[in-house]
Amino acid sequence: MLYGRVALVTGGSRGIGAAIARRLAGEGAHVAITYARSPEQARAVVTEIETMGARGLAIQAEATDAAALTEAVERTVAALGGLDILINNAGIAPYGPIEDVTLEDVDRTLAIHARAAFVLAQAAARHMGDGGRIISIGSSLAERVPSPGWALYSMSKSALIGLTKGLARDLGSRGITANLVHPGSTDTDMNPADGPDAPQERSYTALDRYCDPDDIAATVAHLAGPGARNITGTSITVDAGTTA
Ligand code: NDP
Repeated sequence: MLYGRVALVTGGSRGIGAAIARRLAGEGAHVAITYARSPEQARAVVTEIETMGARGLAIQAEATDAAALTEAVERTVAALGGLDILINNAGIAPYGPIEDVTLEDVDRTLAIHARAAFVLAQAAARHMGDGGRIISIGSSLAERVPSPGWALYSMSKSALIGLTKGLARDLGSRGITANLVHPGSTDTDMNPADGPDAPQERSYTALDRYCDPDDIAATVAHLAGPGARNITGTSITVDAGTTA
């Protein structure tokens, strides 16, 4: 259980981030979420958090804006009384022929997935004590790329493997863990289970099914809890066997 702990979930307005926010609140944590363009959905998630008896907070913070991310950490600490759990989840899915990828695409994707996670971890760690948790959301595509069009996305997500291992070493002496969860195809706005690419993605899995956002949230909740105190610097894949 996460009673009285304070969590910050980036990209908590929709999809996997919203499921993580609900799950952590259900286990007793107070939860701040960030969003970029969905204020109403963010407010709806906060209402759900508050319905569960926890305190919630929605913060607009564009993931390419380092100052906004640092401010989100400070606002969480000020409003909810500290910060114990950081979830780096906000993400995009650039996809297409390698020839069409622009330098702007490269910079934006690396900023949202890698730079933001670094900036947030650095800001959050200043407030974390023993038992602190930094959990990032990677992708099964960081481990294996089964089809063309994903080089940039895969590069940006595999950067989190190095960040996670480095954070584990940098923060371990303070009792703070850092881990990475790699979802496979998961039913969200980004990758609907009834979308045009879904049959092919489903065919890559061992279990012949998409993940539900709650599947990812369950693993994140375990890593956030006391039972995972000796798991650090590693990646856990939740992909219905895509990379098996
Ligand atoms: P969704 O598109 O459903 O939700 C994305 C979330 O990230 C939203 O809350 C969105 O905010 C936020 N976000 C997107 N861009 C920005 C930005 N520039 N600044 C701030 N927030 C932003 O995606 P998923 O829930 O599917 O994905 C969540 C994470 O899981 C991502 O990192 C993704 O790469 C990863 N993942 C997803 C998989 C899948 O199959 N769905 C598979 C593997 C990994 P807003 O609502 O305001 O737009």
